[in-house]
Amino acid sequence: MPDYDGLIIGAGHNGLILQAYLGRAGLKTLAVDRRAVAGGGLSTVEDPRYPGFLHNTHAFFQRAITAMPWYEDLELERHGARYIEPEVNVALLTSEGRALEWWTDIARTAASFAQFSQRDAETLQRWQHDFVPIVRDILVPESRRLPLSPEERHALLSKTTEGRRLLEVSALSPLEFVHQEFEHPTVQAGLLFFNGLREVDLRVKGFGHHIAALLASPAKAQMSRGGTAALARALEASVRENGGAVRLMTEPARIIVENGRAAGIETREGERITAGFVVSSLNPTQTFIDLLDEQLVPHEIQEAVHAFQYNLLAPLFALHLNLREPPRYRAAEANPALAQAFMVIMGLDHVDQFLDIVRHHEQGTIPPTVMWGACPTLFDPSQAPAGHHTAFMWEKLPYRLGGDPNNWDGARDAHGREMLKLWTEHAPNLEGAVIDSFTRSPLDVERCLPNMREGDLLVGAFTNDQVGYHRPFRGAGTYRTHIPQLYLCGSSSHPGGNVTGLPGYNAAQVILSDLGMPLARP
Ligand SMILES: Cc1cc2nc3c(=O)[nH]c(=O)nc-3n(C[C@H](O)[C@H](O)[C@H](O)COP(=O)(O)OP(=O)(O)OC[C@H]3O[C@@H](n4cnc5c(N)ncnc54)[C@H](O)[C@@H]3O)c2cc1C
Repeated sequence: MPDYDGLIIGAGHNGLILQAYLGRAGLKTLAVDRRAVAGGGLSTVEDPRYPGFLHNTHAFFQRAITAMPWYEDLELERHGARYIEPEVNVALLTSEGRALEWWTDIARTAASFAQFSQRDAETLQRWQHDFVPIVRDILVPESRRLPLSPEERHALLSKTTEGRRLLEVSALSPLEFVHQEFEHPTVQAGLLFFNGLREVDLRVKGFGHHIAALLASPAKAQMSRGGTAALARALEASVRENGGAVRLMTEPARIIVENGRAAGIETREGERITAGFVVSSLNPTQTFIDLLDEQLVPHEIQEAVHAFQYNLLAPLFALHLNLREPPRYRAAEANPALAQAFMVIMGLDHVDQFLDIVRHHEQGTIPPTVMWGACPTLFDPSQAPAGHHTAFMWEKLPYRLGGDPNNWDGARDAHGREMLKLWTEHAPNLEGAVIDSFTRSPLDVERCLPNMREGDLLVGAFTNDQVGYHRPFRGAGTYRTHIPQLYLCGSSSHPGGNVTGLPGYNAAQVILSDLGMPLARP
């Protein structure tokens, strides 16, 4: 008898969601993780120099979490999860002191866009309206199930008006879509930035529908009360309630394959843990190259894994602050609603800056700063001592700085000071408000979570041959692998990275269906 029915490698949110569903179905499971804390990118740390100041070092803005099927199925609010969705969801502050605002209410968003271009405000509303049924009836259901092959998908979509519209728009790149539909350079830049947050290469055809889909999505950016890690704690509680175990500081040296089937792992300490099936939430390089004996992986799969592309533009640099008071933006003097803006973007005025940012990433150099972030304690005071605040800014910066990621260790703090300079131009009170600060580079991200290779927080680029049925590689988007009883459940699988939990949710459906068991709902 194996030790467990199922063993999951990596206790990030995808691994935990999968594990909770397996537990609800009555299976005995173990998740192993190399870190001392579960949750992966759901990470909140306390400043060791200033107790009580909490910082979310990876994911912070989470889209539509409360609308995800697993959020309700796993009863996460009963386990302590709470989400906040601020009304002024995003504000882009221009260098001239204007603001392009994205509210949870589309009419207020359109009113803000109209201050830049009346025509763009009307175009925005038209696309939002047209895409509501496409998001509801096509894109959301597609993200929550096993992907169809491109041929099957095309045939299915061609049958309906909405499907044909989706195919037509997605044939464009986001850059083409925005240039074709909108006229004002700040509006174009703002829309592309909102889209770029999802890390799609703006030049790649096949993603022209992303902006319209974001406009039409009912759920905007949300944050977790108590810090992002509160979601991880709720997931862990759900796992444990259903009999699952999580073993930390445990790293597999290899996946055991016996009689041609996955049968467990051997840890770096030489311990054998056996299981009826194994699920990897790691990236394809870790799963197929590092953890499987070479002779178990056919040549064509090895080649596909070596060709797997990590996202050039995904790596983030972060500046975190402990504050005596929240940033007070100049732009809020004329427009008080901005004092409650959730995601704030600075340094971005014109759409052409994107191409400049891409060029800098390709060359390993630092572009003029475009950054975005938030002051979490404006909405959740529990993340700092009474009367105090935390805030952060992120910037997309290249992993290979000057051709070598190790250069980040020497360059990190100086770059943090540059970011603070720009931030203070927009919020002059920061001058005397900072108690402490620290930075994290793309190299630090990879050191912490090696599945985010090259600092890629999506764990694999969203390019045409790495999405849907072809994520992580051609024809591999089924969560199953070429080895029976070895499955995938992480962000390198459909529908990809960010905190959606859907790779884990979809993998649960596949594994339980292979076992002839239903997905247990409350
Ligand atoms: C700076 C930054 C900001 C981000 N901001 C956002 C955001 O605002 N919104 C959003 O939605 N997403 C954001 N993300 C992305 C998000 O964190 C990831 O896409 C998400 O965490 C991926 O989830 P996962 O479960 O697939 O993998 P992970 O969360 O990375 O979990 C994988 C787990 O596997 C473990 N592991 C890795 N290697 C091994 C090994 N060899 N052996 C055992 N265990 C291993 C890790 O320790 C980890 O716990 C951000 C990421 C970063 C780095």
